[in-house]
Amino acid sequence: MKTRSFTIIKPNAVAKGSTGKILDMIIGAGFTLRAVRMVCFSRNDAYRFYGEHIGKPFFDELVDFMTSGPSIVAIVEREDAVATLRELVGATNPANAKEGTIRKLFADSLTRNAIHASDSDENARREWSQWFAPEDIMEAEYNFPMI
Ligand code: ADP
Ligand code: MG
Repeated sequence: MKTRSFTIIKPNAVAKGSTGKILDMIIGAGFTLRAVRMVCFSRNDAYRFYGEHIGKPFFDELVDFMTSGPSIVAIVEREDAVATLRELVGATNPANAKEGTIRKLFADSLTRNAIHASDSDENARREWSQWFAPEDIMEAEYNFPMI
């Protein structure tokens, strides 16, 4: 069954011009875009999004990073979307990320690790709801031949 996940191309990857390459990897792995937009996280947005990490030693650095410039947020769809995207994204610490994963290719450090991917169907829905209203999400089938 096709399911959906939520992803963020984080500010370091956007700033370096890697947005297109990362989206191409995601689409090349069989995902369909269902919604996409460019956003600037406020500190309030970062606290809400990363609420589970408030109080951890890296939290202030994470908030400073996520508010440092624009990000691309997107909803993506495929069979087994959450697990497949986490696999493509790679380990949180790029030093441990497998060859060919997005973090191995585009991360600058453990904090500046280029991309977010949701870790469960439930969290995916909660996370994309912070950025997309229901009418922002493409529900129609659009992968039809254009000619
Ligand atoms: P993931 O993004 O792989 O789900 P976490 O939810 O554990 O990882 O952490 C959220 C984000 O916080 C990470 O993607 C990374 O940007 C940052 N982060 C996590 N752990 C650390 C750490 N030990 N030191 C610095 N930054 C971290
Ligand atoms: Mg996480």
